[in-house]
Amino acid sequence: MRWQMWTQRVMTALYRLFQGRYGVDQLSILLLAVALLCSFIAQLFRLPWLFLLYYAGLIYAFWRMFSRNYAARSRENQKFLSLAHKGKARFRILRSRFRDRKVYRYLKCPSCGQYLRVPKGKGKIEITCSTCRTSFIRKV
Ligand SMILES: [Zn+2]
Repeated sequence: MRWQMWTQRVMTALYRLFQGRYGVDQLSILLLAVALLCSFIAQLFRLPWLFLLYYAGLIYAFWRMFSRNYAARSRENQKFLSLAHKGKARFRILRSRFRDRKVYRYLKCPSCGQYLRVPKGKGKIEITCSTCRTSFIRKV
């Protein structure tokens, strides 16, 4: 019974603490992860200046979590997510480019920028973009 009351009290306190605050998002989690990694590397290689990065990341992450400006923090996170998404897409293309390097060439559509995979060693061919239907001639 006493335990229940205590947990109830803690839960209420936590709820009050986070009420109206932004809370945790992907950007904060990444900041915390990078900060922890910095502290780990700093200890491992005895690099005291790296602790500054650890504290900076930690303070910034907690400042974001306790911020009351929901719109601004949300915008930051959206920006971060879109950058992360673009980075992942670029990495995927580079990986498949490397994997298929002997069989395919990857060309960028001159009109819309979409990556197109074309068979290698076919000479001069007409390529039609699957996204915007633009045709162009290239030697592959
Ligand atoms: Zn296109």
